[in-house]
Amino acid sequence: MALSGLQIFKLLPKTNCKECGFPTCMAFAMQLAAGKAELDQCPYVTEEAKAELGAASAPPIRKVIIGAGDMAVTVGEETVLYRHEKRFEHMPGLGVLITEDMDDATVDKLLGQLKDMEFNYVGQNLRPRVAAIRAADPAKLAALAARADSAAGAALVLINDDAGALKAAAEPLKDKKPLLYAATEENFDAVAAVAGELGVPMAIKADSLEKLAELGQKAVDADLKEVVLDPSSATLGDVLMDQTLIRRAAIKQTFRPLGFPTIGFPCDMTDDPMLEAVYASVFVAKYAGIVILSDLDPARVLPLLYLSQNIYTDPQKPMQMEQGIYPINEPTEDSPILVTTNFSLTYFTVSSEVEASKVPAWLCIMDVEGQSVLTAWAAGKFVADAIAPFLKKSGIDEKAPHKKVIIPGYVAQISGELDEELGDGWEVQVGVREAADIPKFLRQWSAN
Ligand code: SF4
Repeated sequence: MALSGLQIFKLLPKTNCKECGFPTCMAFAMQLAAGKAELDQCPYVTEEAKAELGAASAPPIRKVIIGAGDMAVTVGEETVLYRHEKRFEHMPGLGVLITEDMDDATVDKLLGQLKDMEFNYVGQNLRPRVAAIRAADPAKLAALAARADSAAGAALVLINDDAGALKAAAEPLKDKKPLLYAATEENFDAVAAVAGELGVPMAIKADSLEKLAELGQKAVDADLKEVVLDPSSATLGDVLMDQTLIRRAAIKQTFRPLGFPTIGFPCDMTDDPMLEAVYASVFVAKYAGIVILSDLDPARVLPLLYLSQNIYTDPQKPMQMEQGIYPINEPTEDSPILVTTNFSLTYFTVSSEVEASKVPAWLCIMDVEGQSVLTAWAAGKFVADAIAPFLKKSGIDEKAPHKKVIIPGYVAQISGELDEELGDGWEVQVGVREAADIPKFLRQWSAN
């Protein structure tokens, strides 16, 4: 049974030495209880405490890191079955399959896309990061892995049945933490030995959940922590059932043999690109850690990345921008001043319309804990006696001494009060309600 933070704290040394990376033993205990830290981060836990805490303190789904640097993919560490219970932790790593049959031009194209494909959406950079290299020929596996690493720095999944071939390809790149795919009933001991020797993660694969759990138990017994599961789902129904059962077993029953992130290969499930996107979306929506596609067509990758982002944002924490003054279209001291809230969607909607207007402008973003204009106004956060001190302290009057401030049309009712709060020299103007009307409004403003 899971222990509370307080129960765990009682078993810790209570010296607050910080060596675990947390400021106090209590902070460490709370992270352990939430499954966000590992007991062996504290070097001073006694053997008795370890025996008592051991299993209870490990996260129900282990954290696994594949790759290194900017392209590293972190998966696992999940603690809930449903997003609204808390949040999902790590967006799945999207990737592409590269095989030994592909010609050079195709491989170059895919690696080029992996290197360059990046979408910025509401302040987050979204991109595919994984190259899954499948080659029966050990020399080709090693060569393609090295190429994917040097050309794209991709997080690698190395696919071959033979432990020797996996070792030869992974050893020169072991610092990049490639995922060895896959240990099966036939080769488990040999692949596990390579993973242990090189210190890299490995996948285990079986054609039923029962057999997968048996292999998972072997991984637990061997104290292998960086493991990824492939239940070999063949149909959409299997994907839904397998991913859900694995997640339920790990979270609800703390069933350690299935307490690892998963990998899915929609690229192998159909030849129809649109159907593949549908399969991939089910993997994304239903807990998969890594999802491998057959190509990187932006028309399918972009929606999958957006879907991931939507599912994996923290529902208790609105996405927000930093408070500050954002210059758009190279404004001067005569440019208009707009003020709005730091809800990311508000910022990106307003800033993109200002940008589209081609009118230089200063956009003042006020911290209201990520709420939209009307919500923040209703909560008493985007009101005259809060906006006035923000504007005065922001320094906007030095950048645009005309001090004419445009507020969103939705809070027109605060204009008089804000005028009073700001005092002499300032002028409050009421802007438009809808962002789509901003370009016309700004062009008229500039013409006057
Ligand atoms: S390393 Fe151990 S003793 Fe030190 S602060 Fe962390 S939990 Fe406490």
